[in-house]
Amino acid sequence: MNHSDTPLLSSVLNNDVPALIGNQWCQREDRFDVTNPATHDVLARVAECSAGDTRAAIAAAELAGQSWKRVSAKERSAVLRCWFDLVTDHADELARLMTLEQGKPLAEARGEVGYGASFIEFFAEEAKRMTGETLPSPAASKRLLVMREPVGVVAAITPWNFPLAMITRKCAPALAAGCTVVIKPAEATPLTALALARLALQAGVPEGAISVVTASSPAAVGEVLCTDPRVRKLSFTGSTPVGKKLLAQCASTVKKTSMELGGNAPFIVFDDADLDAAVEGAIASKFRNAGQTCVCTNRFLVQDNVYDAFVEKLTEKVRTLKVGNGLEDEVVIGPLINPAAVEKVQRHIDDAIGKGATVTCGGQAPEAGHTFFNPTVLAGVTREMAVAGEETFGPLAPVFRFSDIDEAIEMANDTPFGLAAYFYTNDYRRIWRTMEGLEYGMVGVNEGLISTELAPFGGMKESGLGREGSHFGLDEFTELKYVCLGGF
Ligand code: NAD
Repeated sequence: MNHSDTPLLSSVLNNDVPALIGNQWCQREDRFDVTNPATHDVLARVAECSAGDTRAAIAAAELAGQSWKRVSAKERSAVLRCWFDLVTDHADELARLMTLEQGKPLAEARGEVGYGASFIEFFAEEAKRMTGETLPSPAASKRLLVMREPVGVVAAITPWNFPLAMITRKCAPALAAGCTVVIKPAEATPLTALALARLALQAGVPEGAISVVTASSPAAVGEVLCTDPRVRKLSFTGSTPVGKKLLAQCASTVKKTSMELGGNAPFIVFDDADLDAAVEGAIASKFRNAGQTCVCTNRFLVQDNVYDAFVEKLTEKVRTLKVGNGLEDEVVIGPLINPAAVEKVQRHIDDAIGKGATVTCGGQAPEAGHTFFNPTVLAGVTREMAVAGEETFGPLAPVFRFSDIDEAIEMANDTPFGLAAYFYTNDYRRIWRTMEGLEYGMVGVNEGLISTELAPFGGMKESGLGREGSHFGLDEFTELKYVCLGGF
């Protein structure tokens, strides 16, 4: 390991990386490895935190919360604005760090820094707009007020696929609302979380108001975060099975929860669509982060009479996507996070081929190494195949066929998930009917990239509860308090 380039990088790329527990950076004898998925090199050894560490972080967050919620909205806003500036100033280092620990190409990692920072900027502004209301009174002797208060200590459990943005999307609104946060980052990508926390402290977030509890096996830390009564809110992003487990654990103390869970996004192409635009949208929505995003297209649904033309154009484009280490120029498909992720893509392909699908490009892992996978297009895919029901989370584009709008909407909704959906058509009646028919929290119409800090992000059905980003995202970290003033 030799990454002493800058103070920020060297603070997390070393053999003895501390966790942030309350106001202290805590080294631990027990540590776990963080590896580069592209090279399998060990990048760092990070503190293995215990249930006791988690309780200490919660205690510190509770204490810090008593004063942080009394800091004026304008001051909280200024602190967040300073955090935004620091993240922006360190964009190159943070991007490099993400490429090292997560694998995404450097250009995408830079994009994530911008996207992640945008939540801090937005909620710095929104902190000043956390308003209440006066309501009409039922009696002349009374006045009715509704106040918004911070919910209290927030636990943030985050996934590895967006190591930076999933943290800022939770912490920025929480801190803006006057809450304090204990973060449990994914075991594969704790380094970006630790670097972000350093910058938050530097920006003036008070000690104790942000902790990062790192652990390689999350269950013990997770159980404390979900069951400790001092934690009043869990904001989780990750898979649906884990989300369900955490929801059950949170029931014992009736915590507020936000759940950003898995998806199975359909991408519908109608026969009047601009096919070139659809292919462009398909590449953006399917192959970003090597297909490892929750809003990634999982199923292409294409109308009969343009099916062959779409498959041909998509295949042609996918063949040009360069696979390799994300630090290399022109690479657009980095490694998958681990060998298990590669096995899942291969299993979906083998299952589909066994049931009659054909590979039009890709289909196997390239020589680059066993965490890489060639972007793949599958034609002749049917609903009996595993790809129809499971989230692949890799660079696989299965193309299904439909004949009319009713069938397209029925196929699109035939899943327990409801996160993101996309469709391409230029017919305004199809736009309205499809928009209204889709049971999804987010819909892209003639657009493959929909995420922005300005809009509410979240899913229906088993894709989750609550929304992140936009002014709706601030509400999730507040409680309403109704006050009835009498005696007038
Ligand atoms: P995951 O559910 O395995 O892990 C997510 C987080 O939960 C990690 O920090 C992990 O350590 C922690 N965790 C796992 N088991 C736990 C337990 N028993 N107790 C407490 N914490 C536990 O998911 P992942 O593999 O990191 O991420 C991929 C999944 O996340 C995909 O399903 C993807 O769709 C989903 N995701 C959703 C969104 C969204 O906004 N809806 C965004 C990104 C990813």
